Amino acid sequence: SGATISTDVVIIGAGPAGLFAAFQCSMLKIGCVLVDALDEIGGQCVALYPEKPIYDIPACPAIEGAQLIERLAEQIEPFGVERLLGRRIEGLSGASGDFHLTTDKGDTLRTKAVIIAAGAGAFGPNRPPLEDLTTYETSGAVRYSVRRKAEFADKSLVIAGGGDSAIDWALSLSRIAKKIYLVHRRDKFRAAPESLSQLEEAIARGVVEKITPYQLKGLQGDGSRLAGVEVATLTGETRLLEAEHLLAFFGLATDLGPIAQWGIDQNRSTIPVVPSTCQTSLPGIFAIGDIASYPGKLKLILQGFSEGAMAAHAIYPIVNPHQALHFEYSTSKGVPGSE
Ligand code: FAD
Repeated sequence: SGATISTDVVIIGAGPAGLFAAFQCSMLKIGCVLVDALDEIGGQCVALYPEKPIYDIPACPAIEGAQLIERLAEQIEPFGVERLLGRRIEGLSGASGDFHLTTDKGDTLRTKAVIIAAGAGAFGPNRPPLEDLTTYETSGAVRYSVRRKAEFADKSLVIAGGGDSAIDWALSLSRIAKKIYLVHRRDKFRAAPESLSQLEEAIARGVVEKITPYQLKGLQGDGSRLAGVEVATLTGETRLLEAEHLLAFFGLATDLGPIAQWGIDQNRSTIPVVPSTCQTSLPGIFAIGDIASYPGKLKLILQGFSEGAMAAHAIYPIVNPHQALHFEYSTSKGVPGSE
């Protein structure tokens, strides 16, 4: 019942790495199709932090997650890259030069090479082990991401976690929330030094209160509306924090899903690649972005961009076996419509 498609490269995952890889392939006149399990493009940037500013994209002093994805989409727009959304890639067979991929919706894709840009795989948040958690998740009282900041205006919040996401959201929401309790099981937070000094300012203003070393213990409320979050130290001292929402940032549960069954070498939910080409242990299959690992790897968007460029160049001879690639800068080549 699904589609049957033939192309040069199937890009699995339409997060920032996959989108930019589509641009790089298109510039080399390599045909490509973007496939994503989610109904919209953008990966983590759109699914997890559409309104959070990103400060480390070259030449963009500050850009929100969703805006970055709009710009990446605009950059490939002239090439008309086909997108298959709401489709999870499941099966892989064949070999370099002629792979067959299948999706959960019954589509078949024939392709010469594959770029896996699947991020954390089929990602989901790590959830705290609390009683009645699901009922509060359903009502929206407990969340793992912030889609619209405005919902938290004048609210009392518990933000749990000790990494970048918890700190970034505490800072961002401290401008609109009534009160934020920042709960972490250690005294120290793991975040950029600049964020930590901003956090000290927010604490000095009284909007943010640090609750450390405490862990989440229980949720209080009527099963839909949250009244408070119970926290406890390792030695059993407890506190009740009055809050309407719990925002838990304990990282992403990484699950390679079907990709783990393809016989590609893996290392704890990542795929080791040759750093100069991004090729995996299976010839013709490349991995870029958060899912790719090698010594010195940074799980940052800018790293995924350059990996997309390397993979596209490494794929060129697979798609054009009898043609040497004479590299040109984008300015000498031009994109369609720019002449
Ligand atoms: P993802 O964005 O994870 O996209 C992967 C896509 O692949 C997903 O859409 C998924 O649905 C799809 N997929 C997976 N498996 C399949 C399958 N089998 N079939 C079809 N589709 C599949 N990075 C920065 O550089 N700067 C920041 O300031 C920054 N802030 C962050 C803040 C937060 C709160 C978080 C969570 C992350 C942040 N990051 C930041 C990290 C950044 O978002 C990631 O490095 C980036 O999203 C990785 O891009 P990607 O394209 O590799 O994967």
